[in-house]
Amino acid sequence: MSTCLPCAMELADDAAVVFRDPLWACEVVPGFDVPGWFVLRVRRHAERLQGLDAQELATYARRLRDVVDAVGQVTGAPAVYQLTFGEANPHHHTLVAARGHDVPPEHRMGAILNLRAAHADTDAACALVPPVAAAYERLARRPQGRTA
Ligand SMILES: [Zn+2]
Repeated sequence: MSTCLPCAMELADDAAVVFRDPLWACEVVPGFDVPGWFVLRVRRHAERLQGLDAQELATYARRLRDVVDAVGQVTGAPAVYQLTFGEANPHHHTLVAARGHDVPPEHRMGAILNLRAAHADTDAACALVPPVAAAYERLARRPQGRTA
């Protein structure tokens, strides 16, 4: 049995799933279940950005942009961070974290991860899944190219 957390998310409850397509998935992840935080992960076990194949590389930015846009639209957060470390869990994934107006300066940027324990709330995090999923579905249908 795999001890890889991103691989284990294949078995996540539907309530935590923003979307899954053949290459990518986005979910609320246990331990990172702060409302407004989501993890975009490649579905097969591919380690770090360097482990992605050509098709995964070609689609990653588009998926990430659409998730970031969806999270920003639903939460109204002034910043939506994208964090990838490739260390504790080398399976390539990116934490997409809404940084709300209420987050004080000392907890912004990388320090936002310190909010994890105190702000984890599975129910509140999963309550954002349906609206983020709906926004993602709409945004992902945008034509390719410049859409801003
Ligand atoms: Zn994995």
